[in-house]
Amino acid sequence: MTITHSSPELSPELLSKLDGIELTDPLGFSKVMAPIMAVAHYRDGAWETPRLTGLEPMALWPHTQALHYGQALFEGMKAYRNLGDAVPGASALLFRPFEHARRMNRTALRLGMPELPEQVYVETLERLVSALDKLVPNRQGQSLYLRPTMFGATADLSVVPSTEFCFVVLATPSDAFFTAPISAWIERLFSRAGPGGTGNVKAAGNYAASFAAAAKLGKLGFHQLLWLDAATHTQIEEFTAMNVFVRRGDRLVTPPLSDTILAGVTRDSLLKLGPTLDLDMREEPVLIDEVVDAARSGEDVELFGCGTGAVVAPVELLGDDSGLRLPLPNREVASRLRQYMLDLQHGLIAGPEGWQWPV
Ligand code: PMP
Repeated sequence: MTITHSSPELSPELLSKLDGIELTDPLGFSKVMAPIMAVAHYRDGAWETPRLTGLEPMALWPHTQALHYGQALFEGMKAYRNLGDAVPGASALLFRPFEHARRMNRTALRLGMPELPEQVYVETLERLVSALDKLVPNRQGQSLYLRPTMFGATADLSVVPSTEFCFVVLATPSDAFFTAPISAWIERLFSRAGPGGTGNVKAAGNYAASFAAAAKLGKLGFHQLLWLDAATHTQIEEFTAMNVFVRRGDRLVTPPLSDTILAGVTRDSLLKLGPTLDLDMREEPVLIDEVVDAARSGEDVELFGCGTGAVVAPVELLGDDSGLRLPLPNREVASRLRQYMLDLQHGLIAGPEGWQWPV
Protein backbone atom coordinates (compact mmCIF):
# COMPACT_ATOMS: atom_id res chain seq x y z
CA MET A 1 0.00 0.00 0.00
CA THR A 2 1.34 3.41 -0.86
CA ILE A 3 0.34 6.60 0.88
CA THR A 4 0.98 9.96 -0.67
CA HIS A 5 1.44 12.76 1.81
CA SER A 6 0.53 16.32 1.07
CA SER A 7 -1.30 18.89 3.12
CA PRO A 8 -3.85 20.59 0.94
CA GLU A 9 -4.40 24.19 2.01
CA LEU A 10 -7.75 25.29 3.25
CA SER A 11 -9.23 27.29 0.40
CA PRO A 12 -11.00 30.57 1.20
CA GLU A 13 -14.12 28.97 -0.27
CA LEU A 14 -13.95 26.08 2.20
CA LEU A 15 -13.27 28.39 5.13
CA SER A 16 -16.18 30.62 4.14
CA LYS A 17 -18.50 27.69 4.95
CA LEU A 18 -17.92 28.54 8.60
CA ASP A 19 -19.14 32.11 8.16
CA GLY A 20 -22.25 32.86 10.14
CA ILE A 21 -22.14 29.65 12.18
CA GLU A 22 -22.41 30.48 15.88
CA LEU A 23 -22.59 28.02 18.73
CA THR A 24 -25.82 28.56 20.64
CA ASP A 25 -26.94 26.60 23.69
CA PRO A 26 -28.23 23.99 23.93
CA LEU A 27 -25.83 22.36 21.47
CA GLY A 28 -27.54 18.96 21.78
CA PHE A 29 -25.95 16.24 19.69
CA SER A 30 -25.79 16.06 15.89
CA LYS A 31 -28.03 19.12 15.66
CA VAL A 32 -25.45 21.21 13.84
CA MET A 33 -23.11 19.26 11.61
CA ALA A 34 -19.78 20.95 10.93
CA PRO A 35 -19.80 22.20 7.31
CA ILE A 36 -16.33 20.73 6.67
CA MET A 37 -15.46 17.02 6.72
CA ALA A 38 -12.44 14.89 5.84
CA VAL A 39 -12.66 12.25 3.11
CA ALA A 40 -10.31 9.65 1.63
CA HIS A 41 -10.93 6.83 -0.83
CA TYR A 42 -9.16 3.52 -1.03
CA ARG A 43 -8.70 2.28 -4.57
CA ASP A 44 -6.27 -0.10 -6.29
CA GLY A 45 -4.86 -1.19 -2.94
CA ALA A 46 -3.99 2.26 -1.58
CA TRP A 47 -5.49 5.05 0.47
CA GLU A 48 -5.40 8.48 -1.06
CA THR A 49 -4.41 11.32 1.28
CA PRO A 50 -7.50 12.44 3.22
CA ARG A 51 -8.65 15.88 2.15
CA LEU A 52 -10.89 18.43 3.78
CA THR A 53 -14.01 19.24 1.83
CA GLY A 54 -17.47 20.70 2.33
CA LEU A 55 -20.10 18.56 4.06
CA GLU A 56 -22.37 17.39 1.29
CA PRO A 57 -24.50 14.38 0.31
CA MET A 58 -22.49 11.49 -1.10
CA ALA A 59 -23.56 9.83 -4.32
CA LEU A 60 -23.73 6.08 -3.71
CA TRP A 61 -25.09 3.38 -5.98
CA PRO A 62 -27.99 1.49 -4.40
CA HIS A 63 -25.87 -1.64 -4.74
CA THR A 64 -23.00 -0.23 -2.68
CA GLN A 65 -21.80 -3.12 -0.54
CA ALA A 66 -21.90 -1.40 2.86
CA LEU A 67 -25.65 -0.88 2.44
CA HIS A 68 -26.27 -4.61 1.91
CA TYR A 69 -23.65 -6.46 3.89
CA GLY A 70 -22.81 -3.97 6.59
CA GLN A 71 -19.14 -3.58 5.79
CA ALA A 72 -19.04 -0.41 7.85
CA LEU A 73 -17.42 0.79 11.06
CA PHE A 74 -17.09 3.93 13.09
CA GLU A 75 -15.11 5.51 15.88
CA GLY A 76 -16.24 8.11 18.38
CA MET A 77 -13.91 10.82 19.65
CA LYS A 78 -14.07 14.36 20.96
CA ALA A 79 -11.99 17.51 20.61
CA TYR A 80 -12.09 19.41 23.90
CA ARG A 81 -11.32 23.09 24.40
CA ASN A 82 -8.00 23.41 26.22
CA LEU A 83 -9.05 25.24 29.38
CA GLY A 84 -5.93 24.90 31.53
CA ASP A 85 -2.15 25.16 31.65
CA ALA A 86 -1.27 21.45 31.59
CA VAL A 87 -0.73 21.51 27.80
CA PRO A 88 0.60 24.97 26.97
CA GLY A 89 -0.07 26.37 23.52
CA ALA A 90 -2.84 24.01 22.42
CA SER A 91 -6.19 25.43 21.41
CA ALA A 92 -7.97 22.08 21.57
CA LEU A 93 -7.09 18.61 22.85
CA LEU A 94 -7.81 15.15 21.48
CA PHE A 95 -7.92 12.36 24.04
CA ARG A 96 -5.62 9.38 23.29
CA PRO A 97 -6.18 9.56 19.50
CA PHE A 98 -3.68 6.79 18.69
CA GLU A 99 -5.73 4.37 20.82
CA HIS A 100 -8.75 5.16 18.65
CA ALA A 101 -6.65 4.76 15.49
CA ARG A 102 -5.53 1.32 16.62
CA ARG A 103 -9.06 0.29 17.54
CA MET A 104 -10.39 1.45 14.17
CA ASN A 105 -7.80 -0.72 12.49
CA ARG A 106 -8.72 -3.73 14.63
CA THR A 107 -12.33 -3.22 13.54
CA ALA A 108 -11.26 -2.77 9.91
CA LEU A 109 -9.34 -6.06 9.92
CA ARG A 110 -12.25 -7.90 11.56
CA LEU A 111 -14.60 -6.66 8.81
CA GLY A 112 -12.23 -7.28 5.90
CA MET A 113 -11.38 -3.63 5.40
CA PRO A 114 -7.95 -2.05 4.90
CA GLU A 115 -6.10 -0.44 7.79
CA LEU A 116 -5.42 3.28 7.67
CA PRO A 117 -1.96 4.19 8.99
CA GLU A 118 -2.32 5.50 12.57
CA GLN A 119 -0.33 8.61 11.71
CA VAL A 120 -2.67 9.43 8.83
CA TYR A 121 -5.71 8.95 11.09
CA VAL A 122 -4.35 11.30 13.75
CA GLU A 123 -3.10 13.90 11.25
CA THR A 124 -6.51 13.93 9.57
CA LEU A 125 -8.23 14.63 12.88
CA GLU A 126 -5.68 17.33 13.69
CA ARG A 127 -6.29 19.07 10.36
CA LEU A 128 -10.06 18.83 10.67
CA VAL A 129 -10.16 20.06 14.28
CA SER A 130 -7.79 22.88 13.52
CA ALA A 131 -9.97 23.99 10.59
CA LEU A 132 -13.05 23.75 12.81
CA ASP A 133 -11.52 25.45 15.86
CA LYS A 134 -14.37 27.94 16.12
CA LEU A 135 -16.79 25.04 16.52
CA VAL A 136 -14.96 23.63 19.57
CA PRO A 137 -17.20 24.79 22.44
CA ASN A 138 -15.60 26.58 25.39
CA ARG A 139 -17.49 25.04 28.27
CA GLN A 140 -16.25 22.05 30.25
CA GLY A 141 -18.16 18.90 29.28
CA GLN A 142 -19.05 20.26 25.84
CA SER A 143 -16.91 19.21 22.88
CA LEU A 144 -16.60 18.97 19.15
CA TYR A 145 -17.68 15.36 18.71
CA LEU A 146 -15.73 13.56 15.95
CA ARG A 147 -17.08 10.65 13.96
CA PRO A 148 -14.51 8.76 11.86
CA THR A 149 -16.31 6.25 9.64
CA MET A 150 -15.15 3.68 7.08
CA PHE A 151 -17.31 1.70 4.69
CA GLY A 152 -17.12 -0.67 1.75
CA ALA A 153 -17.86 1.43 -1.32
CA THR A 154 -17.75 -1.10 -4.16
CA ALA A 155 -21.02 -1.26 -6.07
CA ASP A 156 -21.49 -5.03 -6.36
CA LEU A 157 -24.13 -7.37 -4.96
CA SER A 158 -21.75 -10.32 -4.60
CA VAL A 159 -21.30 -11.39 -0.97
CA VAL A 160 -17.58 -10.66 -0.96
CA PRO A 161 -15.61 -7.81 0.61
CA SER A 162 -15.45 -4.48 -1.19
CA THR A 163 -12.29 -3.57 -3.00
CA GLU A 164 -12.98 0.16 -2.68
CA PHE A 165 -13.52 1.93 0.62
CA CYS A 166 -14.34 5.35 1.87
CA PHE A 167 -13.02 6.97 5.07
CA VAL A 168 -14.95 9.99 6.28
CA VAL A 169 -14.58 12.12 9.41
CA LEU A 170 -17.58 14.18 10.46
CA ALA A 171 -17.80 16.65 13.34
CA THR A 172 -20.63 18.09 15.40
CA PRO A 173 -20.48 20.48 18.36
CA SER A 174 -22.05 18.69 21.27
CA ASP A 175 -23.21 19.05 24.85
CA ALA A 176 -22.17 16.67 27.61
CA PHE A 177 -24.22 13.51 27.02
CA PHE A 178 -25.58 12.72 30.48
CA THR A 179 -25.49 15.48 33.03
CA ALA A 180 -27.80 13.62 35.44
CA PRO A 181 -27.60 10.01 36.66
CA ILE A 182 -29.16 7.47 34.32
CA SER A 183 -31.44 4.45 34.66
CA ALA A 184 -30.37 1.08 33.27
CA TRP A 185 -32.53 -1.80 32.08
CA ILE A 186 -31.00 -5.23 32.60
CA GLU A 187 -31.55 -6.92 29.20
CA ARG A 188 -32.35 -10.55 29.96
CA LEU A 189 -33.72 -11.62 26.57
CA PHE A 190 -31.74 -10.12 23.69
CA SER A 191 -27.93 -10.24 23.41
CA ARG A 192 -25.57 -7.60 22.07
CA ALA A 193 -22.68 -9.89 21.18
CA GLY A 194 -21.81 -13.56 20.96
CA PRO A 195 -18.52 -15.44 21.30
CA GLY A 196 -16.55 -15.28 18.06
CA GLY A 197 -18.68 -12.42 16.77
CA THR A 198 -18.00 -8.71 16.33
CA GLY A 199 -18.92 -7.40 19.79
CA ASN A 200 -15.33 -6.42 20.54
CA VAL A 201 -15.05 -4.06 17.56
CA LYS A 202 -17.02 -1.03 16.44
CA ALA A 203 -18.91 -2.69 13.59
CA ALA A 204 -21.86 -0.52 12.54
CA GLY A 205 -24.16 -3.56 12.59
CA ASN A 206 -23.62 -4.08 16.34
CA TYR A 207 -25.60 -0.93 16.95
CA ALA A 208 -28.41 -1.77 14.53
CA ALA A 209 -28.68 -5.13 16.32
CA SER A 210 -29.38 -3.31 19.61
CA PHE A 211 -32.24 -1.16 18.34
CA ALA A 212 -35.09 -3.70 18.70
CA ALA A 213 -34.20 -4.34 22.34
CA ALA A 214 -33.80 -0.61 22.97
CA ALA A 215 -37.22 0.22 21.49
CA LYS A 216 -38.94 -0.50 24.81
CA LEU A 217 -36.75 1.90 26.82
CA GLY A 218 -38.79 5.02 26.09
CA LYS A 219 -42.07 3.38 27.17
CA LEU A 220 -40.47 2.08 30.35
CA GLY A 221 -38.84 5.41 31.12
CA PHE A 222 -35.33 3.91 31.13
CA HIS A 223 -32.25 5.36 29.44
CA GLN A 224 -29.83 2.54 28.68
CA LEU A 225 -29.64 -1.22 28.19
CA LEU A 226 -27.24 -3.15 30.38
CA TRP A 227 -26.24 -6.22 28.37
CA LEU A 228 -25.46 -9.62 29.88
CA ASP A 229 -23.41 -12.45 28.39
CA ALA A 230 -25.25 -14.21 25.55
CA ALA A 231 -24.69 -17.79 26.79
CA THR A 232 -26.02 -17.60 30.36
CA HIS A 233 -27.41 -14.09 30.86
CA THR A 234 -25.79 -14.02 34.30
CA GLN A 235 -22.70 -11.84 33.80
CA ILE A 236 -22.68 -8.12 33.15
CA GLU A 237 -20.92 -7.18 29.91
CA GLU A 238 -21.48 -3.51 29.01
CA PHE A 239 -23.95 -0.89 27.85
CA THR A 240 -24.74 -0.28 24.17
CA ALA A 241 -22.05 2.41 23.89
CA MET A 242 -20.34 2.39 27.29
CA ASN A 243 -18.33 -0.04 29.38
CA VAL A 244 -19.44 -0.70 32.93
CA PHE A 245 -17.87 -0.53 36.38
CA VAL A 246 -19.36 -1.74 39.65
CA ARG A 247 -18.10 -0.54 43.02
CA ARG A 248 -18.74 -2.62 46.12
CA GLY A 249 -17.16 -1.00 49.13
CA ASP A 250 -13.54 -0.12 48.30
CA ARG A 251 -13.28 -2.30 45.23
CA LEU A 252 -14.10 -1.25 41.67
CA VAL A 253 -14.60 -4.04 39.17
CA THR A 254 -15.12 -4.07 35.39
CA PRO A 255 -15.62 -7.25 33.34
CA PRO A 256 -12.42 -8.48 31.67
CA LEU A 257 -12.11 -7.83 27.93
CA SER A 258 -13.28 -10.67 25.72
CA ASP A 259 -14.56 -11.11 22.20
CA THR A 260 -17.95 -9.78 23.36
CA ILE A 261 -16.81 -6.57 25.05
CA LEU A 262 -15.49 -3.45 23.33
CA ALA A 263 -12.09 -2.29 24.60
CA GLY A 264 -13.16 1.22 25.59
CA VAL A 265 -10.50 3.91 25.73
CA THR A 266 -12.29 5.43 28.75
CA ARG A 267 -12.39 2.05 30.51
CA ASP A 268 -8.69 1.59 29.92
CA SER A 269 -7.99 5.14 31.12
CA LEU A 270 -9.93 4.61 34.36
CA LEU A 271 -8.10 1.34 35.01
CA LYS A 272 -4.77 3.09 34.45
CA LEU A 273 -5.77 6.01 36.72
CA GLY A 274 -6.73 3.69 39.60
CA PRO A 275 -3.35 3.83 41.39
CA THR A 276 -3.04 7.63 40.90
CA LEU A 277 -6.47 8.12 42.47
CA ASP A 278 -5.83 5.52 45.17
CA LEU A 279 -8.65 3.33 43.89
CA ASP A 280 -8.60 -0.46 43.87
CA MET A 281 -9.63 -1.31 40.30
CA ARG A 282 -9.86 -4.82 38.94
CA GLU A 283 -10.92 -6.68 35.83
CA GLU A 284 -13.11 -9.55 37.02
CA PRO A 285 -16.38 -11.15 35.95
CA VAL A 286 -19.40 -9.49 37.57
CA LEU A 287 -22.59 -11.49 38.23
CA ILE A 288 -25.71 -9.35 37.88
CA ASP A 289 -27.52 -11.21 40.67
CA GLU A 290 -24.70 -10.53 43.12
CA VAL A 291 -24.84 -6.81 42.37
CA VAL A 292 -28.62 -6.73 42.76
CA ASP A 293 -28.52 -8.74 46.01
CA ALA A 294 -25.77 -6.56 47.44
CA ALA A 295 -27.63 -3.33 46.63
CA ARG A 296 -30.90 -4.77 47.96
CA SER A 297 -29.31 -5.71 51.24
CA GLY A 298 -28.12 -2.14 51.73
CA GLU A 299 -24.45 -2.72 50.86
CA ASP A 300 -22.48 0.30 49.58
CA VAL A 301 -22.82 -0.33 45.82
CA GLU A 302 -22.26 1.94 42.83
CA LEU A 303 -22.66 1.15 39.15
CA PHE A 304 -21.61 3.43 36.30
CA GLY A 305 -21.02 3.50 32.58
CA CYS A 306 -17.97 5.00 30.90
CA GLY A 307 -17.26 5.98 27.33
CA THR A 308 -16.16 8.85 25.13
CA GLY A 309 -19.71 10.18 24.80
CA ALA A 310 -20.83 9.92 28.39
CA VAL A 311 -17.36 10.19 30.01
CA VAL A 312 -18.64 8.64 33.28
CA ALA A 313 -22.38 8.14 33.82
CA PRO A 314 -23.60 7.07 37.27
CA VAL A 315 -26.63 4.74 37.33
CA GLU A 316 -29.34 5.65 39.83
CA LEU A 317 -31.89 2.96 39.00
CA LEU A 318 -31.72 -0.65 37.79
CA GLY A 319 -34.80 -2.32 36.31
CA ASP A 320 -35.76 -5.52 34.52
CA ASP A 321 -38.78 -7.41 33.23
CA SER A 322 -39.28 -9.31 36.49
CA GLY A 323 -40.44 -6.05 38.04
CA LEU A 324 -37.12 -5.10 39.61
CA ARG A 325 -36.86 -1.35 40.30
CA LEU A 326 -33.74 -0.94 42.40
CA PRO A 327 -32.52 2.55 43.33
CA LEU A 328 -28.73 2.99 43.59
CA PRO A 329 -28.28 6.13 45.64
CA ASN A 330 -24.46 6.17 45.80
CA ARG A 331 -22.36 7.93 43.18
CA GLU A 332 -19.41 9.56 44.93
CA VAL A 333 -16.73 7.59 43.09
CA ALA A 334 -18.42 7.91 39.69
CA SER A 335 -18.76 11.67 40.19
CA ARG A 336 -15.14 11.96 41.23
CA LEU A 337 -13.95 9.93 38.21
CA ARG A 338 -16.13 11.93 35.83
CA GLN A 339 -14.65 15.20 37.08
CA TYR A 340 -11.10 13.85 36.95
CA MET A 341 -11.55 12.67 33.35
CA LEU A 342 -13.07 15.98 32.28
CA ASP A 343 -10.22 17.88 33.95
CA LEU A 344 -7.74 15.74 32.02
CA GLN A 345 -9.63 16.03 28.76
CA HIS A 346 -9.79 19.82 29.03
CA GLY A 347 -6.13 20.14 30.01
CA LEU A 348 -6.82 21.39 33.55
CA ILE A 349 -4.54 18.71 35.00
CA ALA A 350 -1.64 16.86 33.39
CA GLY A 351 -2.13 13.27 32.23
CA PRO A 352 0.14 10.46 31.06
CA GLU A 353 2.18 10.85 27.86
CA GLY A 354 0.02 10.91 24.71
CA TRP A 355 -3.32 11.26 26.47
CA GLN A 356 -3.78 15.00 25.84
CA TRP A 357 -3.03 15.46 22.17
CA PRO A 358 -2.58 19.14 21.28
CA VAL A 359 -4.23 20.67 18.23
N1 PMP B 1 -18.68 -0.15 24.49
C1 PMP B 1 -19.28 0.09 23.31
C2 PMP B 1 -20.09 -0.98 22.70
C3 PMP B 1 -19.13 1.34 22.69
O1 PMP B 1 -19.74 1.60 21.52
C4 PMP B 1 -18.33 2.33 23.30
C5 PMP B 1 -18.16 3.68 22.64
N2 PMP B 1 -17.05 3.67 21.79
C6 PMP B 1 -17.71 2.02 24.52
C7 PMP B 1 -17.92 0.78 25.09
C8 PMP B 1 -16.80 3.01 25.18
O2 PMP B 1 -15.61 3.13 24.45
P1 PMP B 1 -14.74 4.46 24.50
O3 PMP B 1 -14.43 4.68 25.93
O4 PMP B 1 -13.52 4.14 23.70
O5 PMP B 1 -15.56 5.53 23.92
